[in-house]
Amino acid sequence: MKKISIVIPAHNEEGNVSLIHQRIKEVFSGLENYRFEIIFVNDGSRDNTQQKLVELAEKFEEVKYIEFSRNFGHQPAVKAGMDFANGNAVISMDADLQHPPELIPEMIKKWEEGFDIVYTIRTYPKQISAFKRKTSDLYYKLLSVISDVNLKEGGGSDFRLMDSSVVDVMRNMNEADIFLRGLSNWMGFRQTGIHFTAGERASGESSYNLKKMMKFAFTGITAFSVKPLYLAAYLGFLFSVFAVLGYGIYVIHSFVSKTEISGWASLIITVVFFGGIQLIILGIIGIYLGKIFKQVKERPNYIIRSKNF
Ligand code: UDP
Ligand code: MG
Repeated sequence: MKKISIVIPAHNEEGNVSLIHQRIKEVFSGLENYRFEIIFVNDGSRDNTQQKLVELAEKFEEVKYIEFSRNFGHQPAVKAGMDFANGNAVISMDADLQHPPELIPEMIKKWEEGFDIVYTIRTYPKQISAFKRKTSDLYYKLLSVISDVNLKEGGGSDFRLMDSSVVDVMRNMNEADIFLRGLSNWMGFRQTGIHFTAGERASGESSYNLKKMMKFAFTGITAFSVKPLYLAAYLGFLFSVFAVLGYGIYVIHSFVSKTEISGWASLIITVVFFGGIQLIILGIIGIYLGKIFKQVKERPNYIIRSKNF
């Protein structure tokens, strides 16, 4: 019998862990040839998630948990679950039921057809704000233009099945800032996607605010592209051309009209403008420098406080 490991990161999900376990159990009762385990990763929850997980694990042997020492973030939590999963395939999904467990049989079917990675393409329901949908679309378009990662179709999500051979490769990657959806796209293997409509969060609140989303977005870009670093060179070249042209115009003008071009306002604006551009570029270099700094320290992506297996 093949075993499917399901990895579920949980940050303040006390109302959802039992619910999602129930739904997954129902799905597997219809799948006779497969065993399953659920590895919940409690990512520093401040509510009663841990207690709920301990209770659940006492009742059901398929339930396992890993408790982090503090909040390390969604991506490290998924990574931790994959590091400890030993199924023939591993599925990662959110705890809040926005990723419907009912899609699992279809994912397994694709896997059995020979695909190593079955990713999902999310269509947003009407309830999700147009702002979130549009920015997400735009972001993945930008990412695919400036890097080798192509998550264009409806954007990425971390609802994904991976064969154990893929998980083995993933396990040995020790990037400081992990961006799993990018990594799995970048890895290759035989991949296919299936569509799903993201549901509403079953209970509790989203842990992703605008600030966290921005950080996640930057992580994705800087982990897969060095193009932003070239910006300085491109802009430098562009403005040098402007400067040479401007100087030519100035010289010709002073010969023809025999008067100076006046105006300190334009001077100040130009100085401020270039000051701004230089700071932006310094900032970009700083972001990459920070990544190198993080990476050379080789700190682990997460620290485990307890686990039941
Ligand atoms: N999550 C986590 N650590 C965090 C933030 C989120 O483990 O710091 C988990 C969360 O419990 C959920 C998944 O990651 O299972 C997705 O988070 P959320 O639903 O808050 O994000 P959204 O769906 O709103 O993008
Ligand atoms: Mg959610």
